[in-house]
Amino acid sequence: MKEGLVIKSTGSWYTVEDENGNTYECKIKGKFRIKGIRNTNPVAVGDRVGFTLQNVSADENVAQVGLITKINERKNYIIRRSINLSKQAHIIAANIDQAVLVVTMQYPVTTTTFIDRYLASAEAYRIPVMIVFNKADRYNEDETEEMDLLMQIYRNIGYKCLKTSAKEGTGIEKFKEALKDKTNVINGHSGVGKSTLINLIQPGLNLRTMEISDSHKTGKHTTTYSQLFKLNFGGYIIDTPGIKAFGVLEMEPWEISHYFVEIFKFSEHCQYNNCSHTHEPGCAVKEAVENYQIAPSRFRSYLGLLEPDDKHRPAF
Ligand code: GDP
Ligand code: ZN
Repeated sequence: MKEGLVIKSTGSWYTVEDENGNTYECKIKGKFRIKGIRNTNPVAVGDRVGFTLQNVSADENVAQVGLITKINERKNYIIRRSINLSKQAHIIAANIDQAVLVVTMQYPVTTTTFIDRYLASAEAYRIPVMIVFNKADRYNEDETEEMDLLMQIYRNIGYKCLKTSAKEGTGIEKFKEALKDKTNVINGHSGVGKSTLINLIQPGLNLRTMEISDSHKTGKHTTTYSQLFKLNFGGYIIDTPGIKAFGVLEMEPWEISHYFVEIFKFSEHCQYNNCSHTHEPGCAVKEAVENYQIAPSRFRSYLGLLEPDDKHRPAF
């Protein structure tokens, strides 16, 4: 049996790359299932699989056909749930090393609510996040101050932050270094500069844009393929259609505080074990907000997510 990485998925055919860079078109043997969800696609880009070769052709130009017989355990994966059939889900990508969220203070505005929802989802998925503050060249004094404050807030709670100007080429080397040798997914609102940034580090890499929005109105199941694009300096970028909202999964209220890392940390000291940090006495989280140990914007995002009829969730 050979081992390889799934670099492209059409839903029925999978392109698998072995360690020498050879690719094979593969099908899946039988049915694989994941506990709890009736997933429509058992294998996704980023999966490490075992496969056997079927029709070995003498002609090296002809792609060899393989049969996937084993899927290695995933360290994480992103799924999109079907809106109507809650038990059905579509795995978009697996084994993601880093989620890169590109944000802008203006042109367009990325709100802290949006950033915090994204971070909470990524925590739920167990994917490390880097926040890239782009268009640094375009901001006035107030906007620059706001950007620096946000960078400080997010760095303090453990997220990697980077300031870039794709226009002036600043921060691009650091951006490149941060992506190197990792499997990255890049998200952010339309117009924040994702394509421009990617083009600077690897000209010609033509990815479909990876817009995400707060809205989950578009719940359609797209069936187009996903792909891993190789970075010529090492690593991959996941190109995938329709992560309309790499937003928040259907989270239980108690779960939400787990995904706000600093709130979770302070909640250890709350008087009540099941404190929701809204009205309870002896709440260490509220105290930390009052003492500016937790940023008010973060606490507001947390409270927003607790709203049961929050129009933003579920996001998939
Ligand atoms: P995407 O939708 O996120 O892929 O955004 P694009 O890469 O298409 O960029 C949207 C617009 O913003 C384009 O007109 C870019 O030239 C511009 N843009 C991208 N990065 C920067 C930047 O750092 N500074 C400025 N001033 N403009 C930028
Ligand atoms: Zn509390």
